[in-house]
Amino acid sequence: MTEMGTDQPPVVIIGSGLAGYSLARELRKRDASLPLMMITADDGASYSKPLLSTGFTKGKAADELAQADCGAMAEQLTMEIRTHTRVTGIDPDAHEIRIGGERLRYRQLVLAWGADVIRLPDPVSGNPAVCSINDLEDYRQFRRHLGGHRRVIVLGAGLIGCEYANDLRNGGYDVTVVAPSGQVMPGLLPEAAASAVQAALEAEGVTFHLGVAADEVVGETGSVQVRLNDGAMLQGDIVVSAVGLRPRTRLALDAGLKVNQGIVTDRLMATSAPDVYALGDCAEVEGHVLMYVMPLMASARALAATLTGAPAPVQWGGMPVMVKTPCCPVAVVPPEVTEDGTWEVEREGNNVRALYRDSSGALLGFALTGDRVIEKQTLSREVPPVLATLDAR
Ligand SMILES: Cc1cc2nc3c(=O)[nH]c(=O)nc-3n(C[C@H](O)[C@H](O)[C@H](O)COP(=O)(O)OP(=O)(O)OC[C@H]3O[C@@H](n4cnc5c(N)ncnc54)[C@H](O)[C@@H]3O)c2cc1C
Repeated sequence: MTEMGTDQPPVVIIGSGLAGYSLARELRKRDASLPLMMITADDGASYSKPLLSTGFTKGKAADELAQADCGAMAEQLTMEIRTHTRVTGIDPDAHEIRIGGERLRYRQLVLAWGADVIRLPDPVSGNPAVCSINDLEDYRQFRRHLGGHRRVIVLGAGLIGCEYANDLRNGGYDVTVVAPSGQVMPGLLPEAAASAVQAALEAEGVTFHLGVAADEVVGETGSVQVRLNDGAMLQGDIVVSAVGLRPRTRLALDAGLKVNQGIVTDRLMATSAPDVYALGDCAEVEGHVLMYVMPLMASARALAATLTGAPAPVQWGGMPVMVKTPCCPVAVVPPEVTEDGTWEVEREGNNVRALYRDSSGALLGFALTGDRVIEKQTLSREVPPVLATLDAR
């Protein structure tokens, strides 16, 4: 005869990324004996994904970026971790997940299964010389594939494209960046800050083709040609595609969960299905999809409280995004653009301080580059929190 409750199914976390492991750690801080199980499609190694774009700068190979393997994590967190196991469906009514033909019951389910890389059409992404790097295994494969080649063409000039460009340049590679936007990090940085980052990367030797898209990649690793939509042909050895990420929503949608850009949750990280929660890159928390570490850490702390019986809405304060372009560091809080907002820009070389204020003078966001990054803490305290309405209640 078991004691009441001990034969209950576990809390199941899908995903062993920063979201899944942060939640497991926060849960263990609160409850040492809560039955917990993690299921992950990868090998379950604990690693910090942001480090993937720093391998060359820090002189680290792919395997050196893993902090602990899944065995060590399972022991540390006293939970079962099923690796190389892909969840194929959710049945919220039955409180079950499907893994192929197998069904597994959960007490509460947490979706922490991240985001997919956006693939370009087949004439580009279908070529095996085109790599996307969104997890440690991708990075391992990329490093293998890169081998002794020197010329890397990066598709995409967003945060991740710029970070890889800087890191590969630090590793001594010839780097060419191609993107359809007119500036680097569109949507994240105002023009002045973007031009500072671009100028600094160019000074390091990175070549940019902005305002053009890649139409086709031909050839193979070691001898690839990228045809641009203005007719130009770039020569390289290997291509890194970093054109964006999209929250993984397919299985949630199939299960009837409310999905928008990401899996829709409220501030308790609860989805539209009972006992199913989501956090990290896959989640859209009251309209916000923030694919960064700080928001997921705050989400993990709040969700751990909720799952252990003390419901806690997530609080997101001013969370500056730090872009790891060491040739020109960036700290940015992108503002919610308003009709009467304007950018005030001070620039000295590649040191930019851009402040976005509304007509009453309130600071809504900022972008700092180079030496001005040191002001990030002070300014972060001034901007409104991301989930401001809750704080006002
Ligand atoms: C190169 C790079 C640099 C970055 N730099 C920064 C930075 O400097 N600062 C910052 O704040 N953020 C940065 N980010 C973003 C940050 O890394 C992510 O927001 C964060 O790692 C997301 O964690 P996650 O756990 O939600 O998702 P992931 O790490 O993607 O984890 C998803 C997990 O779910 C598993 N999974 C998926 N589908 C299934 C399934 N069907 N069944 C079972 N398991 C499944 C996967 O195997 C994986 O274990 C960077 C991202 C990249 C790619």
